[in-house]
Amino acid sequence: MRHKNLSKLFLFLAVVAALSGRLLIAFFNTAPSEAAQPAAPKYVFIFLADGAGVTHMEITRLFNQHVHKEGLVISDKIMKEGFVGLLTTHAANSLVTDSSAGATALACGCKAKNGAVGMCEDGKMPKTVMEIAKEQNMRVGLVTNSTVYDATPAAFAGHVTNRNLYSAILEQYLSLEPNLLLGGGGDQFLPRSHPGSRRRDDSDVIATFKNKGYAYVSDRQGLSESKGGKVLGLFSLKDMSFELDRDKDKQPSLSEMTRAAIRLLQEGNDRGFIVLIENENIDSAAHMLDAASVIQAYREFDRSVGLAYEFYKKHPADTLILVTSDHETGGMGFTGYPPFESLKKIASIRISLSKAVELLGPKPSAEAVDQLVAEHFKGFVLAPEFKEAIIKRKPHGPTFRSNPTAAGLSAMISAHTQLHWISSAHTNQPVFVAALGAGAERFRGYQDNTDFAKQLIALLERKK
Ligand SMILES: [Zn+2]
Repeated sequence: MRHKNLSKLFLFLAVVAALSGRLLIAFFNTAPSEAAQPAAPKYVFIFLADGAGVTHMEITRLFNQHVHKEGLVISDKIMKEGFVGLLTTHAANSLVTDSSAGATALACGCKAKNGAVGMCEDGKMPKTVMEIAKEQNMRVGLVTNSTVYDATPAAFAGHVTNRNLYSAILEQYLSLEPNLLLGGGGDQFLPRSHPGSRRRDDSDVIATFKNKGYAYVSDRQGLSESKGGKVLGLFSLKDMSFELDRDKDKQPSLSEMTRAAIRLLQEGNDRGFIVLIENENIDSAAHMLDAASVIQAYREFDRSVGLAYEFYKKHPADTLILVTSDHETGGMGFTGYPPFESLKKIASIRISLSKAVELLGPKPSAEAVDQLVAEHFKGFVLAPEFKEAIIKRKPHGPTFRSNPTAAGLSAMISAHTQLHWISSAHTNQPVFVAALGAGAERFRGYQDNTDFAKQLIALLERKK
C-alpha cells in the first residue's frame, strides 16, 4: 500500500511538474512578445526646422561654441543620448520638394506633388499623425512662427489640393479642433473690412474659433497668461518676425511659444499630447541668403528643443522628442578655409536682410545703402560691384528669385566670411532626424521621409 501510495504521489508530482513546466514555457513564450510591444510615448514633440540641412545645424553649433561658449541641445543631448537618422526629401513629381509635399510625407506617410497639402500623389488622403493622435484622445498642438495656415502646419492638420487655399485650410483646423494653434497669419482670420485683412469675404474667423470654445490671444503677455483646453494665438498679420528683428515686448519667441505649449497641453491632461513646433524663419532667411538670420533662428529653435529636453528629463519613459526638417534651403556652407573669426563677424550683424530690404525700399540711393551698411553691418565693406547691383536692381550671385538688395548684402557677407550659397531655393539634400525617448530607435538609419510618419503612426497606434 505504502509503495502504491508513493507511486501515486510520484505520479501526482510528475503531473504537477509537467503542468507547471507548461505554465513556465507559456510564461516565457508570452514574456518576449510582451516585451516587444512598442514603447508608446504619451508626450510627443515634433520639432521641424523648415529649410534646415545638416550644415545649418553644424554652423549654428560652431557659432554657439565659438561666439557664446555654449553648446547645442540638438547635437549635444538629443543626438548623443538618442538616435540619428537620415531622411530622403524628394517629392512625388520633383527631385526637390517644397514645404507642402515635404510636410505631407512627414505627416501622412505618402509622397505628394509639390503644392499638395495632406494629399498623396494618387489623390488619397490618409489620416495625419495629428488626426490619429486625436482619435487616441491625445491633445494636439500646432506651433509655428510662419502663418498658421502655411503648408507645414496645414499638412499636419488636414487635406487640401493646394497650399494657397487658405480659407479651406482654416476650415480643416475648425474640423480638427487642435487644442493649440499658435503663430502668425491674422490676415486670413480678419473680415475683409478690417485693416490688414487679406480675406475676400466678411467672415470673422477669430469669432468662429471663439464660438468653438477657443481662448484668443494676440501678444506675448496674453500668451503667458493664457488658460484653457483650447487656445488660438495669432501674433502677427503675416509671418512672425525674424529673431534678429523681433519686438521682444510684443511678439513671443519660438521658445516662449514652446514653453506656453508645454504648459497648456499638459495642464489637467492625463491622455498625453502631440505637438508640432516649426521654425519657418530658417527657410525664409535661407531664401534671402541671410546667414545671420539663419543662425539666430536656429539658435532659437535649439532653445525650444532644450525646453522639451527638460520635460523629457522629468518624464523619460513617456516622452518622445523628434527633431527634423522638410528639406534644405540654399546649399549654405563655409568654403576656402576661413578662420573661426568669420563666425564673430556674422555675430556682429544687427538686422535681417529682409529688414534691410524693407528699410531701403525698391529704389535705394547710394547714400541710403552706405548709411545702412555703416549702421547695421559694422566692419563690413560693400564692394562697388555689389553696391551697383543693389542700386541698379541687377540680379546677381546664386539667386533664383532673391531680391537684389538681399543678394548684394549677402555677397558682401560672403566676401568677408567665406560663407557661401549655391542657390536661393530649396535643394535635394537629405535631412537628419534626431530622436530621443520612447520609440526613438525606430527613426535611426537611412529612411524615406514617408517612413517618418509610418513609424510615428505605428507608435501612436501601439503597433509593431
Ligand atoms: Zn522654402
